[in-house]
Amino acid sequence: MTQSQLCPSLDTSKMQPTPSFFLRLWLLVVALPLAVAARPEQAAPLAQLVVVHTNDIHDHVRPREDGAGGLPYVAGFVAQLRRQHGDVLVVDAGDVTEKGDLIGARTHGLITYEAMRRVGYHAVAIGNHDLDRVPLERLRRHEKALGQRLLCANLLGPDDQPLFEPARLVRIGEVQVGLVGLTLAAHEGRTREGLLDLRASGRRLAHEARALRAAGADVVVAVCHEGTKACAELSQLAPEVALFVSAHTHEIVRAPIVVPGTGALVVQASSYARWAGLLKLEVDRRTGRIVRYGGSLVEMTGEAFAPDPAIQGLVAAAEGTAAPDASVFVIENERSLTASEIGLLGAEALRTQTGAEIGFCLPSQVVRDVLPAGRLDYNSFYRAVGLIGANLVAAELSGAEIAAYFTGWQRNGKERPEWAGFRAQRTGRGGLLQPELEPTRRYRVVMPKREWGLVMRQLKSAGADRTAPALKERAQRLDASLAGALRDYLSARREQGQSLREVLAELEAARSPTAALTNH
Ligand SMILES: [Zn+2]
Repeated sequence: MTQSQLCPSLDTSKMQPTPSFFLRLWLLVVALPLAVAARPEQAAPLAQLVVVHTNDIHDHVRPREDGAGGLPYVAGFVAQLRRQHGDVLVVDAGDVTEKGDLIGARTHGLITYEAMRRVGYHAVAIGNHDLDRVPLERLRRHEKALGQRLLCANLLGPDDQPLFEPARLVRIGEVQVGLVGLTLAAHEGRTREGLLDLRASGRRLAHEARALRAAGADVVVAVCHEGTKACAELSQLAPEVALFVSAHTHEIVRAPIVVPGTGALVVQASSYARWAGLLKLEVDRRTGRIVRYGGSLVEMTGEAFAPDPAIQGLVAAAEGTAAPDASVFVIENERSLTASEIGLLGAEALRTQTGAEIGFCLPSQVVRDVLPAGRLDYNSFYRAVGLIGANLVAAELSGAEIAAYFTGWQRNGKERPEWAGFRAQRTGRGGLLQPELEPTRRYRVVMPKREWGLVMRQLKSAGADRTAPALKERAQRLDASLAGALRDYLSARREQGQSLREVLAELEAARSPTAALTNH
């Protein structure tokens, strides 16, 4: 298989800057004689390769309020490495899109792929968030914005051929790198026509890896939207792969994991471009194995390198046209808020902004990012709760039903629902919080649709009142969003002269049983 067969749509030679003079000199003066001394019958079997890897960027096209993370920093970091080392391999293991920025949402991820094109990625895999419920036509537009095909070997079309480019060869300095992409495999609860399961994905990966080696790859790298454990399983099926760039599980892997038996390396750089992974590898081209390595996660902050001004400019321009409301100031935040605090604020914002008596906002279901210290704008709230909080439900529930959900979920879910609009106190048994509500009275309750699904499940398992109207029919979709409710609620409190800390203290007091005793 030739390079052009592997890579039909791209002229990779145009994408590769030539290695610097110093790198060539280094190879000539240092690496070549060393290698010749080690193995006289073959020239330079050992070669150096520097790799930068990211995963689960999720539309983080700019730093957070506390100045950390985002693609402008990744670009600045890669540019600095290229100045130091000549060319470096830059790959991303997928979940490029969704939930990280209003601009990303409004442009359907195009802004993020466009920014990645400017970073100069050599391969980008497809995550489940990039793929699920996304029409193929949009993925093709993502490829256009990225300036290259997405890499994915385990999603097949009706003709049993991969829907995307499965593998490609790129030259990084003196090293021919074979790259194979994999998206999250089919498993129980995740099916899609043409999507292979983990074993079949592993066999496909092995096939592509062998073809890449035959086509001249010195080393094969899998860019793989699977957690580190699944990558270790894939390694057993495809021992030809020397390095797995993992994703999906948002693991902070500070040093490469060595897979027992195969010796392959598995790396992952958490999520949201808070870190980028940096690997310095020594590759044996005869065997395709990594013989020496150093790896770490590098924090994407402005201490060692500047964010890329071109990408910052691109994002600012896109905000002006696609999301001018993203930077509308809401409130100053004195310290990073916990998921529970965000849930409490969300519950109260939903309650007051929709005119309901009770609001619920379950942190584990809804909160996707922290609210860091700093100036919070609408985009901050979109990033924290926008995706899941886009769909809201209101319903009439009796006090007994609310209590059944509230205590049942604490018992089963090992988590306390966050709420606003009633007082609760700890009961003797197990210390569960019990709401102070009239059992037979009906209350208007509002919550994210995702949580409503849990309410229905909880009430069914608790043997809900058979005389009450069916739960499904009581639910009413609301034309509002959690991020919008938080923006409006907290902006109003700020205009009344309250700080975020004061708002939180007031909400806690309003639902605490001690206050209930003194007020009643
Ligand atoms: Zn994922």
